[in-house]
Amino acid sequence: MDRIEKLCIAKGLRMTGQRRVIARVLSTSADHPDAEELYRRASAVDKNISIATVYRTVRLFEDAGILERHDFRDGRSRYEEVPSEHHDHLIDVVSGKVIEFQNEQIERLQREIAEKLGYKLVDHRLELYGVPLNRDSTEPTKG
Ligand SMILES: [Zn+2]
Repeated sequence: MDRIEKLCIAKGLRMTGQRRVIARVLSTSADHPDAEELYRRASAVDKNISIATVYRTVRLFEDAGILERHDFRDGRSRYEEVPSEHHDHLIDVVSGKVIEFQNEQIERLQREIAEKLGYKLVDHRLELYGVPLNRDSTEPTKG
């Protein structure tokens, strides 16, 4: 049984065959797929899965605290399994690639800012948007 499926059962969600397929697709996704991409991957496993089922299922998993939804400003909601260890994201605005990172200095600084404002930090989201440096040098050279 994959991790998401175990979490679903622990949260008391009824696991139908289609939900199990979607859970498995999510568990094996290392990226941050949107619902349409999940639908493509899930329907390759079970062609009877509809896009509506995918939307309903990700909503259900999100409400149960199993999935995290992200909005990376491209108008699509992206999903990932709630990570066991916190990370932040850098979004390549040229390719749409999402890069995960962790930085203890940033984490500490955010806690300090919250404390200075009279709060204990309980959560945060940090998204960096960037274009690749040295874009030309990564192009294959001709000749
Ligand atoms: Zn992530």
